[in-house]
Amino acid sequence: MDVQLAAWAAGTKQGHEAQEILRRCVHCGFCTATCPTYQLLGDELDGPRGRIYLMKEMLEGKPVGRQTQTHLDRCLTCRNCETTCPSGVAYGRLIDIGRELVESRVPRPLSQRWLRGALRWGLTSPWFAPAYRLGRALRPLMPSVLQAKLPISAPAGLWPAQRHTARVLLLKGCVQPAMFPAIDAATARVLDAVGYSSQVIARSGCCGAVKHHLADAEGALVDVRRNIDAWWPEVQKGDVAGIVVNASGCGVMVKDYGELLRDDPAYADRAAQIARLAKDPIELLADKREALLKTMARRPGQRVVYHPPCTQQHGMKIRGQVEALLVALGAEVAPIADAHLCCGSAGTYSILQPSLSKALLRQKVESLTAPGPEMILSANVGCIGHLASGTDLPVRHWLEWLDERLV
Ligand code: SF4
Ligand code: SF4
Repeated sequence: MDVQLAAWAAGTKQGHEAQEILRRCVHCGFCTATCPTYQLLGDELDGPRGRIYLMKEMLEGKPVGRQTQTHLDRCLTCRNCETTCPSGVAYGRLIDIGRELVESRVPRPLSQRWLRGALRWGLTSPWFAPAYRLGRALRPLMPSVLQAKLPISAPAGLWPAQRHTARVLLLKGCVQPAMFPAIDAATARVLDAVGYSSQVIARSGCCGAVKHHLADAEGALVDVRRNIDAWWPEVQKGDVAGIVVNASGCGVMVKDYGELLRDDPAYADRAAQIARLAKDPIELLADKREALLKTMARRPGQRVVYHPPCTQQHGMKIRGQVEALLVALGAEVAPIADAHLCCGSAGTYSILQPSLSKALLRQKVESLTAPGPEMILSANVGCIGHLASGTDLPVRHWLEWLDERLV
């Protein structure tokens, strides 16, 4: 697709990057068929090809307004369209650029500015954990709709002693330690069982994805640089086997640090090295089947389903490996329909686009529960919390399932 950049866009790096991405699009529309928002709304402009066209028009200098902003807002950034696209269009990067440019051109109503600002600040603030604990204490007094937003989590249990020479760093993150403290502890115990000690560096924090997906590129880079500064002294010691990120929504972001800071001379090299070290847990565990089996208690097989988060299957292109390991370790993993579709969580999407998010949740819960599982497993804190709000079945991180079977 040929794009004639308007003068304002021709003078920006973002404009040229978007132009390069758009050049690959042949407008075939294959991506439209697998787009969840197009499937729900049936409007070309709520599918990838339509959004691509809207962004092209903006870059060429056509007027943009609330309508364009709304169609871009409705995108889940699930990147299902990237998986489908035969031409390799980097839609995820394109929508990031498109949103930033629209944000700078189209003022939002005050209520939206307030809500988005509150999310940017609140979810990544040190006040989130105490506020969440207070909310949980008051949970019994709340209406069921609010109770569903505050899922009950398992206790964390003990963190293993630092007994191995091989070590990994775990992302500290933002909401996960307060919402589901058991996930990090379970990750550390599973990694300990295969020979890695895990460490969370106190000065690290949110990966930056919350602000990034709310079109606050500069705010996101503050989080990114803070994490690099926190991890770098450890990385320089030379014994860090990986930076393990057990929330796939954050993992895909940390793996992108090199790209995000490639034009920052002070950080580009360190960011690229950190990105190379970033690992989804399955990347360290896929070939540790024998070691895991030796440390696991024999239990009767359990029928489970696995929801592969979009950030894992479409963002990081990791597909089928978690399911294969779970089967090798004794789980009966039932196949599900439409595993490629988003559950509707998508970061802050469930708050900003509640009706679309709920419709996707209903569909996803239907397909996950159809095979009659005893438990739903996944790999991203957002998906786990969102799915738990739509079903009475237990919804856990797959590493918690594994951890429970360690002896
Ligand atoms: S599938 Fe790829 S090339 Fe075809 S319209 Fe979609 S983005 Fe463009
Ligand atoms: S990222 Fe997901 S919601 Fe957005 S256009 Fe692509 S498939 Fe549709």
